Amino acid sequence: MSKRDLLDEGMIVFQETEYDEAIIGTTEDGRAVYDYILLVEAVSKSQGLTDQEAAEWVDYNMIRSLPYLPQDRRPIVIDMMEGVAVDTERHGSWMIGEDELMECSECTRLFPYRPGLEQEWNYCPNCGARMDKAGDE
Ligand SMILES: [Zn+2]
Repeated sequence: MSKRDLLDEGMIVFQETEYDEAIIGTTEDGRAVYDYILLVEAVSKSQGLTDQEAAEWVDYNMIRSLPYLPQDRRPIVIDMMEGVAVDTERHGSWMIGEDELMECSECTRLFPYRPGLEQEWNYCPNCGARMDKAGDE
């Protein structure tokens, strides 16, 4: 049985079954949750790309396409990576969407949102931007 058989019908997943291994769970409302790092690894493996190339590919082809998918069914890609060096040259702000996602204004990476998280995360775990830019309160 493949991982895909376990997913609900109607759930939107990235088409290629090779990428299913990056699925780390599903939300209560039936959306697939992908881990960004695993997704990059899966793309790197299936397409023979370096990690850097695969990351660009994922950003360009997958992350960027998410806003065009139906909001209540589109996959969520999260980045569990920790310990990213804070980039003091980079300043951004969190943009909180209606779909319980929080977006970094600098790298546009989306993170699952819960109330208060925008205060807890004073820098972006993805690009390291400091979240001290005014104008988004
Ligand atoms: Zn960022």
